[in-house]
Amino acid sequence: MRFGPERKMVVDTARQIYRAGLVIGTWGNVSLKIAGQPLVLITPSGMDYQSMEAEDIVLMDMEGQQVEGNWKPSSELPLHLAIYRRRPDLLAIVHVHSSFATAFAVARQSIPVIMEETAQVIGHPIQTAPYALAGSRRVAELAADTLGLGKAVLLANHGLVGTGTNLQEALRVCQIAEETARETLLARMLGGAYSLTPEEIAILHQGYLKYGQKKPSSK
Ligand code: 13P
Ligand code: ZN
Repeated sequence: MRFGPERKMVVDTARQIYRAGLVIGTWGNVSLKIAGQPLVLITPSGMDYQSMEAEDIVLMDMEGQQVEGNWKPSSELPLHLAIYRRRPDLLAIVHVHSSFATAFAVARQSIPVIMEETAQVIGHPIQTAPYALAGSRRVAELAADTLGLGKAVLLANHGLVGTGTNLQEALRVCQIAEETARETLLARMLGGAYSLTPEEIAILHQGYLKYGQKKPSSK
């Protein structure tokens, strides 16, 4: 079985979306692109997250052919592949049905950039792609179109897709999108949610690239 550590990271992320309540049951899916190779690891369709193991993860090529694994891949494989094809900079995708973000997807509205974390981690309003059936090539193309150069996109009447250069980032994007959707609704109940301006968003987003700890140099 190839890519053992990568498979384990996919399972860990899948378990996290379940434990964090970002999905119910077996909904949602997680994928990881193998850097520099036309290969994608993706969660199997409709499998319980708590009993999922590294060997259950399915290895696919970029044409959607199964390379390794006994289970059928996620029904949203076309969505994951459409995004990886358009965005060679991305290596991880997390799809969830979290309730506040999905409320915006049902209302077919954008989640605005109202929190500093939204500006820092996502950096753009999260738009809802036009409706198409879950798992279809059409939903895959519409989602990839609407995502554009962004980090996250909503699927109308369905859920949220977060992307990143690694699984931690894609998961973080989903968590921040969900929290932003929740805060937007709460602020609107208080009379209104002010969006940050494009200039403020740009400053926060740039600043975030230097946020956190750098490994001390070995000297
Ligand atoms: P899978 O279980 O096939 O990954 O599908 C879940 C889902 O969220 C469909 O949109
Ligand atoms: Zn879904």
